[in-house]
Amino acid sequence: MSSDFEVKLFINYVKRRTSLEFDNESMGELAVNIVNVLLSRNEYMSDEKAISLVNANPTDVRKVLQFLYRLGVIDLVRETTNQYRYEYKWSLSRDKISRFIRTRINNIVEKLTHIVRELSSSTPYLCPTCFKRYSLDEAYDFNFECPRDKTPLVQIDVTSEVTYLNKIIKELRER
Ligand SMILES: [Zn+2]
Repeated sequence: MSSDFEVKLFINYVKRRTSLEFDNESMGELAVNIVNVLLSRNEYMSDEKAISLVNANPTDVRKVLQFLYRLGVIDLVRETTNQYRYEYKWSLSRDKISRFIRTRINNIVEKLTHIVRELSSSTPYLCPTCFKRYSLDEAYDFNFECPRDKTPLVQIDVTSEVTYLNKIIKELRER
């Protein structure tokens, strides 16, 4: 997967999650600005510096930074400025974005794999008259006839669905 594509996915995710969290689109936009500033400067950054660079309401910037940290999309490091003082700073790297996207893709692959397993293991039968579905065991018990209306049951083709999902899984794995 290209690095730019990963950043685009990442930024979309950050925007959506932040807008949802604060129930406010402009907070989502602010999160995108913060992420872009952190990425382009590629340095550890204090609250104050982030606030001056995005040029927004300080309270909102702090709220969004805290939220992005809780979401696990930016890092917080403690920097010692001298023997007795230290300062907390925010950071975000391309590596962090890659790992984040990779984890999410793996979760999706896991879910799809589960669906494919479910689809493959069941052998659904359908009554073309009343549209009730039956498992293989039920169809066998009813002698492959719908007990309600005596219509012969037809087997639903899950192969094409499974093939399609497997194709998506393969594409995601190769990214
Ligand atoms: Zn029926």
